[in-house]
Amino acid sequence: MNLIDWWMCWFRRAGVWHRTVPAEHSSAPSPDASPTASDLDMMSRALALAARAASMGEIPVGAIVYRTSSGQVLGEGFNRREIDKDPSAHAEYLAIQAACKATGDWRLNDCTLVVTLEPCPMCAGLIVNARVGRLVYGASDPKAGAVRSLFQLADDPRLNHRARIIPGVRADECSSLLRAFFKSLRAK
Ligand code: ZN
Repeated sequence: MNLIDWWMCWFRRAGVWHRTVPAEHSSAPSPDASPTASDLDMMSRALALAARAASMGEIPVGAIVYRTSSGQVLGEGFNRREIDKDPSAHAEYLAIQAACKATGDWRLNDCTLVVTLEPCPMCAGLIVNARVGRLVYGASDPKAGAVRSLFQLADDPRLNHRARIIPGVRADECSSLLRAFFKSLRAK
């Protein structure tokens, strides 16, 4: 037995590989899931809310929280940062707050959040803190997205809650709304 074989034997006996391989495997984020018919339907409502935001001069982002099992809408919101002069007035933040008020509970494990744009670090943090069960989003946000683009906060295995992630749902429609809004701003 040469020195390398001896070390490999020792590692196996010491269980080093047996311990490290499953640990690495379990720390991987869960694979992205596909949208249900309810998710697609709720994305239409979120897109309508985003269009409403645009009509009020706000960046068009809309969000819905619904009960995953029944499809009951519990909260909705659209970006109101300019109107409210509030940096936390993001669509999904307002939708989560409304849903917690409606249910009388800060935990939303049995709920799905549908939002037209990938959540920022603040909103991804709130998704974890509110224990949101599922997150469905439309357009990716390469500059601030904290779910897949820049960070993976909403299903980071080191945190005490992981949402199920369904990204890129009707992403083209969600980004067209944003593009049209910024184009009209530049034209002014
Ligand atoms: Zn946000």
